[in-house]
Amino acid sequence: DKRMKDIEKKIDEYRMKVKDSGDLKAESGVFDAPTLKTLYTLASKGIIKAMGGVVSTGKEADVFHALGEDERELAIKIYRITTSDFQKMQDYLIGDPRFEGIRGTKKDIVFAWTKKEHRNLERAMEVGVRVPRPVTSERNILVMEFIGKDEVPAPRLKDVRPEDPKGIYSKVAEYMRLLYQKARLVHGDLSEYNILLYEGEPIIIDMGQAVMLDHPMSSEFLARDIRNIVKYFKKMGVDCSEERLNAYIMKK
Ligand code: ADP
Ligand code: MN
Repeated sequence: DKRMKDIEKKIDEYRMKVKDSGDLKAESGVFDAPTLKTLYTLASKGIIKAMGGVVSTGKEADVFHALGEDERELAIKIYRITTSDFQKMQDYLIGDPRFEGIRGTKKDIVFAWTKKEHRNLERAMEVGVRVPRPVTSERNILVMEFIGKDEVPAPRLKDVRPEDPKGIYSKVAEYMRLLYQKARLVHGDLSEYNILLYEGEPIIIDMGQAVMLDHPMSSEFLARDIRNIVKYFKKMGVDCSEERLNAYIMKK
Protein backbone atom coordinates (compact mmCIF):
# COMPACT_ATOMS: atom_id res chain seq x y z
CA ASP A 1 0.00 0.00 0.00
CA LYS A 2 0.96 3.65 -0.08
CA ARG A 3 2.47 3.77 3.40
CA MET A 4 4.82 0.91 2.61
CA LYS A 5 5.76 2.52 -0.70
CA ASP A 6 6.66 5.72 1.13
CA ILE A 7 8.86 3.86 3.56
CA GLU A 8 10.49 2.02 0.68
CA LYS A 9 11.16 5.31 -1.07
CA LYS A 10 12.61 6.82 2.07
CA ILE A 11 14.91 3.88 2.54
CA ASP A 12 16.14 4.32 -1.04
CA GLU A 13 16.94 7.93 -0.24
CA TYR A 14 19.04 6.82 2.70
CA ARG A 15 20.99 4.49 0.50
CA MET A 16 21.81 7.40 -1.78
CA LYS A 17 22.70 9.69 1.09
CA VAL A 18 24.94 7.20 2.74
CA LYS A 19 26.59 6.42 -0.58
CA ASP A 20 27.17 10.11 -1.29
CA SER A 21 29.00 10.56 1.98
CA GLY A 22 31.34 7.82 0.82
CA ASP A 23 30.48 5.46 3.62
CA LEU A 24 29.80 2.28 1.71
CA LYS A 25 30.09 0.19 4.81
CA ALA A 26 27.04 1.85 6.28
CA GLU A 27 25.11 1.18 3.11
CA SER A 28 25.91 -2.49 2.93
CA GLY A 29 25.78 -3.00 6.69
CA VAL A 30 22.54 -1.32 7.63
CA PHE A 31 20.40 -1.99 4.67
CA ASP A 32 21.04 -5.58 3.92
CA ALA A 33 17.98 -7.43 2.73
CA PRO A 34 17.04 -8.98 6.10
CA THR A 35 17.25 -5.56 7.78
CA LEU A 36 14.97 -4.07 5.14
CA LYS A 37 12.58 -6.92 5.70
CA THR A 38 12.59 -6.27 9.44
CA LEU A 39 11.83 -2.58 8.83
CA TYR A 40 8.91 -3.59 6.62
CA THR A 41 7.69 -5.97 9.31
CA LEU A 42 7.73 -3.15 11.86
CA ALA A 43 5.92 -0.89 9.37
CA SER A 44 3.27 -3.51 8.59
CA LYS A 45 2.65 -3.97 12.33
CA GLY A 46 2.00 -0.22 12.52
CA ILE A 47 4.92 0.40 14.86
CA ILE A 48 6.68 2.57 12.28
CA LYS A 49 4.36 4.91 10.36
CA ALA A 50 7.05 6.92 8.56
CA MET A 51 10.82 6.98 8.38
CA GLY A 52 12.66 10.27 8.93
CA GLY A 53 16.24 11.40 8.66
CA VAL A 54 19.52 9.94 9.85
CA VAL A 55 20.33 10.98 13.43
CA SER A 56 23.70 9.30 13.78
CA THR A 57 25.95 6.86 11.98
CA GLY A 58 28.25 4.98 14.31
CA LYS A 59 30.67 2.11 14.21
CA GLU A 60 28.24 -0.56 15.39
CA ALA A 61 24.86 1.02 14.80
CA ASP A 62 23.00 3.78 12.99
CA VAL A 63 20.16 5.77 14.47
CA PHE A 64 17.22 7.11 12.45
CA HIS A 65 14.27 9.31 13.22
CA ALA A 66 10.80 7.90 12.61
CA LEU A 67 7.16 8.45 13.42
CA GLY A 68 5.12 5.88 15.26
CA GLU A 69 1.61 5.57 16.55
CA ASP A 70 -0.13 8.89 17.27
CA GLU A 71 2.63 10.63 15.28
CA ARG A 72 4.93 10.00 18.20
CA GLU A 73 8.62 10.60 17.39
CA LEU A 74 10.78 7.49 17.53
CA ALA A 75 14.46 6.68 17.38
CA ILE A 76 15.30 3.54 15.41
CA LYS A 77 18.68 2.07 16.27
CA ILE A 78 19.89 -0.43 13.69
CA TYR A 79 22.86 -2.58 14.61
CA ARG A 80 25.14 -3.55 11.74
CA ILE A 81 25.54 -7.24 11.25
CA THR A 82 28.70 -6.99 9.16
CA THR A 83 30.83 -4.46 11.03
CA SER A 84 29.88 -5.14 14.63
CA ASP A 85 32.59 -6.41 16.95
CA PHE A 86 31.22 -9.85 17.87
CA GLN A 87 34.10 -10.82 20.08
CA LYS A 88 33.52 -7.74 22.20
CA MET A 89 29.78 -8.34 22.17
CA GLN A 90 30.28 -11.92 23.27
CA ASP A 91 32.61 -10.81 26.06
CA TYR A 92 29.93 -8.44 27.34
CA LEU A 93 27.26 -11.16 27.29
CA ILE A 94 29.25 -13.28 29.76
CA GLY A 95 27.80 -13.73 33.24
CA ASP A 96 24.41 -12.41 32.19
CA PRO A 97 21.83 -15.03 33.16
CA ARG A 98 19.41 -13.41 30.69
CA PHE A 99 21.64 -14.37 27.78
CA GLU A 100 23.32 -17.50 29.00
CA GLY A 101 24.58 -19.79 26.29
CA ILE A 102 24.25 -17.28 23.45
CA ARG A 103 26.84 -18.43 20.97
CA GLY A 104 25.80 -19.25 17.47
CA THR A 105 26.44 -17.11 14.45
CA LYS A 106 27.50 -13.48 14.30
CA LYS A 107 23.93 -12.65 13.46
CA ASP A 108 22.63 -14.38 16.59
CA ILE A 109 25.05 -12.42 18.72
CA VAL A 110 24.00 -9.09 17.22
CA PHE A 111 20.34 -10.03 17.76
CA ALA A 112 21.05 -10.94 21.38
CA TRP A 113 22.91 -7.65 21.77
CA THR A 114 19.92 -5.69 20.45
CA LYS A 115 17.62 -7.49 22.85
CA LYS A 116 20.09 -6.84 25.65
CA GLU A 117 19.96 -3.10 25.03
CA HIS A 118 16.15 -3.28 24.99
CA ARG A 119 16.08 -5.16 28.32
CA ASN A 120 18.67 -2.87 29.88
CA LEU A 121 16.60 0.19 28.97
CA GLU A 122 13.51 -1.44 30.48
CA ARG A 123 15.33 -2.33 33.65
CA ALA A 124 16.81 1.15 33.98
CA MET A 125 13.40 2.70 33.47
CA GLU A 126 11.81 0.43 36.09
CA VAL A 127 14.21 1.65 38.79
CA GLY A 128 13.66 5.31 37.95
CA VAL A 129 16.59 6.09 35.66
CA ARG A 130 15.63 8.46 32.82
CA VAL A 131 16.40 6.66 29.55
CA PRO A 132 14.60 6.55 26.18
CA ARG A 133 11.54 4.37 26.69
CA PRO A 134 11.98 1.23 24.59
CA VAL A 135 9.06 0.43 22.29
CA THR A 136 10.11 -2.88 20.78
CA SER A 137 13.06 -4.74 19.34
CA GLU A 138 13.17 -7.12 16.43
CA ARG A 139 16.31 -8.87 15.22
CA ASN A 140 18.95 -6.08 14.91
CA ILE A 141 16.51 -3.17 15.24
CA LEU A 142 15.64 -1.37 18.46
CA VAL A 143 12.71 1.07 18.45
CA MET A 144 12.58 3.60 21.25
CA GLU A 145 11.34 7.00 22.31
CA PHE A 146 13.01 9.85 20.42
CA ILE A 147 14.71 12.27 22.80
CA GLY A 148 14.29 15.64 21.15
CA LYS A 149 11.61 17.46 19.24
CA ASP A 150 10.58 18.01 15.62
CA GLU A 151 13.28 15.67 14.32
CA VAL A 152 16.01 17.53 16.21
CA PRO A 153 17.72 15.20 18.67
CA ALA A 154 18.67 16.51 22.10
CA PRO A 155 22.36 17.40 22.32
CA ARG A 156 24.84 15.19 24.14
CA LEU A 157 26.46 16.64 27.26
CA LYS A 158 29.61 16.66 25.18
CA ASP A 159 28.05 19.21 22.77
CA VAL A 160 26.77 21.75 25.31
CA ARG A 161 27.79 23.62 28.40
CA PRO A 162 25.04 22.78 30.88
CA GLU A 163 23.60 25.71 32.80
CA ASP A 164 23.42 23.80 36.04
CA PRO A 165 26.30 21.31 35.99
CA LYS A 166 25.98 20.62 39.71
CA GLY A 167 22.31 19.66 39.38
CA ILE A 168 23.04 17.48 36.35
CA TYR A 169 25.90 15.82 38.20
CA SER A 170 23.64 14.99 41.16
CA LYS A 171 21.09 13.38 38.83
CA VAL A 172 23.72 11.36 37.00
CA ALA A 173 25.20 10.20 40.32
CA GLU A 174 21.72 9.20 41.50
CA TYR A 175 21.15 7.27 38.26
CA MET A 176 24.45 5.43 38.63
CA ARG A 177 23.47 4.52 42.18
CA LEU A 178 19.99 3.35 41.17
CA LEU A 179 21.42 1.30 38.32
CA TYR A 180 23.90 -0.33 40.66
CA GLN A 181 21.74 -0.85 43.74
CA LYS A 182 18.34 -1.57 42.21
CA ALA A 183 18.88 -2.73 38.64
CA ARG A 184 22.19 -4.47 39.52
CA LEU A 185 23.63 -3.03 36.31
CA VAL A 186 26.74 -1.09 35.36
CA HIS A 187 26.38 1.07 32.25
CA GLY A 188 29.90 0.34 31.04
CA ASP A 189 30.20 3.19 28.54
CA LEU A 190 29.02 6.15 30.57
CA SER A 191 30.45 9.53 29.65
CA GLU A 192 29.39 12.91 28.24
CA TYR A 193 28.95 11.09 24.89
CA ASN A 194 26.13 8.89 26.15
CA ILE A 195 24.13 11.39 28.16
CA LEU A 196 21.65 13.63 26.36
CA LEU A 197 20.46 16.91 27.83
CA TYR A 198 16.76 17.45 27.23
CA GLU A 199 14.66 20.13 28.89
CA GLY A 200 17.42 20.60 31.45
CA GLU A 201 17.44 16.90 32.37
CA PRO A 202 20.13 14.31 31.76
CA ILE A 203 18.96 11.21 29.86
CA ILE A 204 21.16 8.14 29.77
CA ILE A 205 21.46 6.38 26.38
CA ASP A 206 23.41 3.59 24.67
CA MET A 207 22.91 0.70 27.09
CA GLY A 208 23.80 -2.24 24.86
CA GLN A 209 27.03 -2.91 26.67
CA ALA A 210 25.62 -2.49 30.20
CA VAL A 211 26.43 -5.57 32.29
CA MET A 212 24.99 -7.20 35.38
CA LEU A 213 27.07 -7.05 38.55
CA ASP A 214 27.93 -10.75 38.10
CA HIS A 215 29.94 -9.92 35.01
CA PRO A 216 33.67 -10.56 35.70
CA MET A 217 34.56 -7.02 34.60
CA SER A 218 31.69 -5.12 36.23
CA SER A 219 33.92 -3.46 38.86
CA GLU A 220 36.38 -2.31 36.23
CA PHE A 221 33.57 -0.96 34.07
CA LEU A 222 32.09 0.90 37.03
CA ALA A 223 35.48 2.39 37.92
CA ARG A 224 35.84 3.60 34.34
CA ASP A 225 32.32 5.10 34.30
CA ILE A 226 33.10 6.92 37.55
CA ARG A 227 36.39 8.19 36.14
CA ASN A 228 34.71 9.55 32.97
CA ILE A 229 31.88 11.24 34.85
CA VAL A 230 34.11 12.87 37.47
CA LYS A 231 36.53 14.07 34.82
CA TYR A 232 33.76 15.71 32.79
CA PHE A 233 32.00 17.38 35.72
CA LYS A 234 35.26 18.60 37.25
CA LYS A 235 35.91 20.32 33.95
CA MET A 236 32.47 21.95 34.33
CA GLY A 237 33.50 23.25 37.75
CA VAL A 238 31.62 20.76 39.92
CA ASP A 239 33.25 19.79 43.22
CA CYS A 240 33.40 16.00 42.93
CA SER A 241 35.85 13.12 43.25
CA GLU A 242 36.04 9.48 42.20
CA GLU A 243 36.24 8.37 45.84
CA ARG A 244 33.11 10.24 46.86
CA LEU A 245 31.12 9.19 43.81
CA ASN A 246 32.14 5.58 44.33
CA ALA A 247 31.16 5.73 48.02
CA TYR A 248 27.78 7.26 47.09
CA ILE A 249 27.05 4.54 44.54
CA MET A 250 28.00 1.75 46.97
CA LYS A 251 26.43 3.15 50.15
CA LYS A 252 23.63 0.93 51.47
P1 ADP B 1 26.51 4.42 19.31
O1 ADP B 1 27.28 5.37 20.22
O2 ADP B 1 26.82 3.00 19.60
O3 ADP B 1 26.63 4.78 17.88
P2 ADP B 1 24.11 5.54 20.59
O4 ADP B 1 23.02 4.74 21.21
O5 ADP B 1 24.99 6.29 21.52
O6 ADP B 1 24.95 4.55 19.65
O7 ADP B 1 23.45 6.52 19.55
C1 ADP B 1 24.23 7.34 18.70
C2 ADP B 1 23.70 8.76 18.72
O8 ADP B 1 22.35 8.79 18.28
C3 ADP B 1 23.66 9.41 20.10
O9 ADP B 1 24.86 10.05 20.43
C4 ADP B 1 22.53 10.38 19.99
O10 ADP B 1 23.00 11.59 19.42
C5 ADP B 1 21.59 9.71 19.02
N1 ADP B 1 20.53 8.97 19.73
C6 ADP B 1 20.57 7.71 20.19
N2 ADP B 1 19.42 7.36 20.78
C7 ADP B 1 18.60 8.43 20.69
C8 ADP B 1 17.26 8.69 21.11
N3 ADP B 1 16.53 7.77 21.73
N4 ADP B 1 16.74 9.92 20.84
C9 ADP B 1 17.48 10.84 20.19
N5 ADP B 1 18.73 10.66 19.78
C10 ADP B 1 19.31 9.46 20.02
MN1 MN C 1 26.99 6.20 22.09
